[in-house]
Amino acid sequence: MDKKLRIGTRCVQAGYTPGKGAPRQIPIVQSTTFRYETSDQMGRLFDLEDSGYFYTRLQNPTNDMVAARIAALEGGVAAMLTSSGQAANFFACINICEAGGHIVATGNIYGGTFNLLGTSLRKLGIDVTFIHPDASDEEIAAAIRPETRLLFGETLSNPGVEVLDIERFAKIAHQHGIPLIVDNTFATPIHCRPFEWGADIVTHSTTKYMDGHGVSVGGAIVDSGNFDWDAHAEKFPGLTTPDPSYHGLTYTKKFGKLAYITKATSQLMRDYGAIQSPQNAFYLGLGLQTLHVRMPRHTSSALQVATWLRDNPAVAWIRYPDLPGDPEHDRARKYLPDGSCGVLAFALKGGRAVDNAFMDALQLVTIETHVADCYTCILHPASHTHRQLTDEQLREAGIAPDLMRLSIGLEDPADIIEDLDQAIRTALGKA
Ligand SMILES: *Cc1c(COP(=O)(O)O)cnc(C)c1O
Repeated sequence: MDKKLRIGTRCVQAGYTPGKGAPRQIPIVQSTTFRYETSDQMGRLFDLEDSGYFYTRLQNPTNDMVAARIAALEGGVAAMLTSSGQAANFFACINICEAGGHIVATGNIYGGTFNLLGTSLRKLGIDVTFIHPDASDEEIAAAIRPETRLLFGETLSNPGVEVLDIERFAKIAHQHGIPLIVDNTFATPIHCRPFEWGADIVTHSTTKYMDGHGVSVGGAIVDSGNFDWDAHAEKFPGLTTPDPSYHGLTYTKKFGKLAYITKATSQLMRDYGAIQSPQNAFYLGLGLQTLHVRMPRHTSSALQVATWLRDNPAVAWIRYPDLPGDPEHDRARKYLPDGSCGVLAFALKGGRAVDNAFMDALQLVTIETHVADCYTCILHPASHTHRQLTDEQLREAGIAPDLMRLSIGLEDPADIIEDLDQAIRTALGKA
C-alpha cells in the first residue's frame, strides 16, 4: 500500500486490497494446511526457495494481511503475529540473542516482560541487566558488554506510564552495534512510531488497544529493516551465517531487509509454534480499523479524568504524561505530541486501606488485570499482579506500593468521573 496514505487510512485499508468479487473484509482462512500440485512445489517451499503457504503454524494468509497492516502503521518493512504479547517479546529477543548472550532492559517494564527476561531467559542462559530508565548515557554504556545483543524498553511503561527517551536509547544501542527493541503497546503507532526515532524492532501486545475490545490475546513483532546485521555479523550469527536447518541458507544474504522477520517465522515459529489463530487475527484486523478513532478518545478522556484527580484533595499523587507539570510531560510532548494513551497511575491519601475501600466501592469502573481496551478498569499491582513482591521489591521495579493503575475506556468521561467521585467519598467515609 502507498506509504504516503495517512495513518487513519492505513488503519482501515492497509494489508488487504480485495480483487474482483473478493470479500471486502479480510477473510478468515480457517485452514491448517494448503494444497500443492507437485512434490517439487512442496519441496521448494521447505527450502524457502518459493514463497507460499503450507502450514498455519508458520504462516497463514489472514495473519499475514493483518501483520502487513501493522507493519504499514509502524512504517516497518515486515511484521509477524504471535499468540500473545509475551510470545512477541520472547521471539523478538531470542531471534538475535542465544545462550551466552546478554540483554540490557529498563527496569520499569511490564511485569510479565520483567519475569520473561529476568527469570525465564536467565534459565535459558541469557543474562539480563536492568537499568533505570533515566540512567545516564555512561551508565547505560557501562551496562553493555561484548556479549550484549540488544537494548529493550517500552515507549510508555506499564504500569508507571513513563516515557522512554527512544532517540537517546537508539543512539547508545547503535554506538555499541546492537539494535533497540521497543514495546510500543500502550502508545500504539497512532501516537508514537518508534522507528522514526531510531528504534530497530517494535513489539506489541495486540491484546490491548489494537484489539481494543477485550476479545483476543495476541502479539506482533515489526522490523524497521534499518539495522545492518552484516555490519555486526559476529554478534548475530543466526542471521549472518548459514542455517543448517534450511540447507545452509543465510538469512541476510537471501532475504536482505526481510531477514529478521523471515528467520523468526521460518525458524522460531516452526520450532516453538506460538502462532496467533486466524480467528484472533481477524478480530485484531477489525480492531485496527478503528484504532485511529479510539486512541484520541482514550487520551482526551484520560486527560479529563487525570485533571479531575489532580485537583481532588483525596488524591496523594498522580502520574499521567499528558498532564502539564508531570515529570514526563516534556518528553511526552516530544515523542507523543498528539497524546499518550488512556492509562494513568495514582494513589489516594491514606495508603492501601483507603485504596482498597475505594476500589470495592467502584460501580462502573471494574477491577481487572487487563488494561487498555474499551472498558474503564483499575488494578492495584501491589495487591494483584505483583502481590508476591515486598514493598521494597516493588519500589525497585519502579512501582509505588500504593500505585493504582486506571485505564480509561470509551465510556462517557463524565460517568467515569462520577463513579470515581462516589467511590472516593465512600472510601473516605469508611476509612
Ligand atoms: C500486556 C503487555 C504485554 C504482554 O502481552 P500479552 O498479550 O498479555 O501476552 C507485554 N508488554 C506490555 C507493555 C503489555 O502491556
